[in-house]
Amino acid sequence: MLWLWLILACVVAAVGVPPIVAAWEAWSTRATTADVGFWTLARSVAGSCHVPWGRRGWPIVRFPLRFGEARVRVLRTPGRPGRTLEVRGYQQRSFGFSARICSPPAPPARWHAPGLAPVLLEAAGGLELSFCSLEATDDRLLRWLLRHPETRRTIDGLQLASNADAVEIILAGRVILLRASTTAAGPPGALVEGMAPELIEALRLLSDDLHDLACALEDAGEPMTLSILCRGCGARLGDDPWHCPKCGHALHRGCREMTGGCANPACEAAPDALPAVIA
Ligand SMILES: [Zn+2]
Ligand SMILES: [Zn+2]
Repeated sequence: MLWLWLILACVVAAVGVPPIVAAWEAWSTRATTADVGFWTLARSVAGSCHVPWGRRGWPIVRFPLRFGEARVRVLRTPGRPGRTLEVRGYQQRSFGFSARICSPPAPPARWHAPGLAPVLLEAAGGLELSFCSLEATDDRLLRWLLRHPETRRTIDGLQLASNADAVEIILAGRVILLRASTTAAGPPGALVEGMAPELIEALRLLSDDLHDLACALEDAGEPMTLSILCRGCGARLGDDPWHCPKCGHALHRGCREMTGGCANPACEAAPDALPAVIA
């Protein structure tokens, strides 16, 4: 009787396993094809592509900036359908303030850096941004950043140029964060290929300018000692800062919400921390 069961098991295995293997191969190939855009982007910016292992997630593209490094990733838009492309620059030097620029205009964020307040640019001075709302902890420094027409044009047109439903730019001490959200369907790789180049161009522009600002602030004798200053906004830390459980860096609690996690690129608790294995 046992041999009969054995033959039956062999027949089932012979008939059943190949389709399962074929289906698995088809699925895994499709998943790889969907991610090709990450590698294409990595090549175009002379960067590297890092694949998370052991947890769900899409690859993270990392590339150098003139004065720092940048990472690109895709995530599900929190609280809404669709996906968000996140381009994050980690600057070598702190530019000492925090700001939030939203296009189309958005109400102030619930959690933000202390002192972050709406900024209205005077249309008469030609500084107006038509499609953005602005908030900053230091409107003087934000105005300085936006003094070049090219910068204003780039920021004002970023939502349209990147084909995003909404763009949010967060400047936070040493972090420049560009988030573009879309409800358009399609694989994340295609999203990266289609939207990232415009955001990266804007990031490079902001990164160079904010590095100049950081140097000017240091020359002017602004205190830049990171042990007493928040890494999110450059202001002094209050009584009850958030301390990163992994690296110990301190941030205001609101700044932590704005940047989405630890602002130290080398920390494993950073929102786009790179996996140990490099692909
Ligand atoms: Zn802060
Ligand atoms: Zn950390």
